[in-house]
Amino acid sequence: MQINGDRLWASLMELARIGATEKGGVKRLALTDLDKQGRDLVVGWGKEAGMSITIDQIGNVFMRRDGTNNALPPVMTGSHIDTQPTGGKFDGNYGVLAGLEVVRTLNDLKIKTEAPIEVAFWTNEEGSRFVPVMMGSGVFCGAFSLETAYAAKDVDGKTVGEELERIGYKGPQVPGDHPIGAYFETHIEQGPVLEDADKVIGVVPAVMGLSWYDCVVTGMEAHAGPTPMGLRKDALQVSTRIMQEVVAIANRYPPYGRGTVGMVQVFPNSRNVIPGEVKFSIDLRNVNDELLNTMHEEMLAFIDKTRSESGLKISIERVSYYPPCPFHPECVDAVRSATAKLGYSTMDVVSGAGHDAIYAARLAPAGMIFVPCKDGISHNEIEDAKAEHLEAGCNVLLHAMLERARLV
Ligand SMILES: [Zn+2]
Repeated sequence: MQINGDRLWASLMELARIGATEKGGVKRLALTDLDKQGRDLVVGWGKEAGMSITIDQIGNVFMRRDGTNNALPPVMTGSHIDTQPTGGKFDGNYGVLAGLEVVRTLNDLKIKTEAPIEVAFWTNEEGSRFVPVMMGSGVFCGAFSLETAYAAKDVDGKTVGEELERIGYKGPQVPGDHPIGAYFETHIEQGPVLEDADKVIGVVPAVMGLSWYDCVVTGMEAHAGPTPMGLRKDALQVSTRIMQEVVAIANRYPPYGRGTVGMVQVFPNSRNVIPGEVKFSIDLRNVNDELLNTMHEEMLAFIDKTRSESGLKISIERVSYYPPCPFHPECVDAVRSATAKLGYSTMDVVSGAGHDAIYAARLAPAGMIFVPCKDGISHNEIEDAKAEHLEAGCNVLLHAMLERARLV
């Protein structure tokens, strides 16, 4: 039993025309007119495939194919169709259209399942226009309230509540008032591991946890010439010690330790002035919560040591924390055995990026399927994936879902 890879590809390309950019990417920000057009197209396809549509109050859309026993909670798949401002054709969109292709295939083959099958797309996964990210699935699982989400504003001051209403996707269902039997999400890897190892399917055992910090080092601005080296309070030099340590900490906890300083602001940022203040971000990740916590402790200890050695003021604040999310063994196994049955090359790949599946996993057994993307690049207009890999991932999705939904 196989899905139709050409039809999947054609649908991906058709959806990618809405908000297409000159460089071959897609700009379809959450709750814009273009998002509405994308939503309408996908919902139209769902209806054509005989599915019924439910929309909840945060604009999550559930497209349902009945089973023979509709008292059973649905086996769900899904992802998102909003994109980054310079996004690609596949991030999120693939997960939604792979689900649609599974249903189209079941229709073609006149296959019935015992449990219903649902294809979801979640509102504002990207978090580009409105913060927080993974908004629709987050409200759905109760990570934060509907009111918090409605109040989120874009740079023009427009709110999620107003924009949902305006595009006609503020539905009646209370978020979360919608059972899920099991949840699968197919996604491009967004990293280089599968391509590097020349494997087609990534079985995803878990998503990394992350800890985000804002760090501020305060020294004293002074003239770069007259101030001798021993009499300086150089905030940047002290900051670079911490920045080096962030990477060193990650390297001490392989293979999944990650440490990144991605944002730096130097004041006054002048060639001949000793920097008086430096603000920078720290991003620590690991797939194991104990190790992530050890990394956190080591960083705080290093900052204490640096503070006393340098005599400079150093403040550190944790601004975000997501624990690692292990996926459900039964769903991971369903993906693994579907991959083996279909004979695709495979390896385990831990996800370093966040996905709606993390929130779905709080409510139901969940699992993910990764396929390679070119050079591991996403959140970029050059994001690319091979049709044969997308087809393979969709076939794995089909068989994993059927194992959970049971054929009749
Ligand atoms: Zn995504």
